[in-house]
This record gives sequence, C-alpha cells and structure tokens, in this order.
Amino acid sequence: MLNRQQLYFGTVATKIALARSLYEQHGKALLADPAICAQLATLSGLSQALADKMAALKMGECCTQCGCRANGGCCSAYMANETDAVLLLINLLQGHEVARQREDEVECLFLNGQTGCTLSPKPMFCLNYNCRHILAQDPTLLASLATATGDILRGQTALEEDILHRIR
Ligand code: SF4
Ligand code: SF4
Repeated sequence: MLNRQQLYFGTVATKIALARSLYEQHGKALLADPAICAQLATLSGLSQALADKMAALKMGECCTQCGCRANGGCCSAYMANETDAVLLLINLLQGHEVARQREDEVECLFLNGQTGCTLSPKPMFCLNYNCRHILAQDPTLLASLATATGDILRGQTALEEDILHRIR
C-alpha cells in the first residue's frame, strides 16, 4: 500500500528515493501501458510547445541575467520541496535524470549549472511565470504562455491520477 504522506510530504531526498523505488517496481508495466505512453507523449509535446513560447519571450536570456544577480532568480533551494514522488516518477518515465545536481543549499538541487532545470514536468509553482521581468513582456505572448502552462498542468494532473490508480 502506498504511503501518500511520503509521496507528497517527505524530504526531497525521501521523495527521490521513493520515485526511484516506484520506477523499479512499476516502470516496465507503466511504459507498456498504451494509455500511459500516450499521455507521456502528449506531455512531452506540451512541454516542447511551452519551451517554444518561452524562447519567443526570450525567457532564457531574461532568467539567466536575473539568476546571475545577487538574490536573483526564482530557483531557490526551497523550491525543490515543491516536487512530489509521482512527479519525479513521471520524470523517470520520461527518461529524465532525477538526482541532486548541486550541494550549495542555495539554489534548487535540481538546477544544473550548465543546462538549467533537469526536471520536465516541473512542480506547479515553477510554471507561475508572474515575476515583474516576465510580466513586462508582450501581453499576447504572455497569454499564450499562460495557455501553454495551463495545458501542461491539466495533462500532468491527469497523468498523475492515472499513475496513482495503477500503482496504489
Ligand atoms: S522567472 Fe522571473 S524571477 Fe525567475 S529567474 Fe526568470 S526572470 Fe528571474
Ligand atoms: S524550475 Fe526546476 S530548477 Fe527551478 S525551482 Fe523548479 S524544479 Fe527547481
């Protein structure tokens, strides 16, 4: 029986360990399930669509400049706690690395110094692009960004529910 408390409220290290354990136990079956595979593929497509919109808004440059400033950036160590074991399991099913990228306890431990965030999908709060740097951008592009993040969150939530249903 799954311990829901551990899935959502353990330490980040506990959630990573649990996600890996769930992947060991259920990964093959989940990846052989056509409905789960279809949702994983849809989520990848939606993530790519969001990445394209972020590129159109030049968010990479914007966030890099912001993150280089003292106290800049929003990928703080605290944000790593917003992950849960099911989200991390989805990352493993997507073939992404789920591991500590840094030891500084200042930035989010999933943030790689060279390649950026190593998670996709990401925690819900990481998709709230409502800082003043982003909000100063073209409203039309911002609206399409909001649509893209909404699509991802819906897809992510539905997939989490389906996975929980299969592994409980
Ligand atoms: S989303 Fe906003 S606060 Fe976060 S790194 Fe980018 S520009 Fe900075
Ligand atoms: S976007 Fe990625 S690196 Fe940044 S806080 Fe979220 S999970 Fe961490």
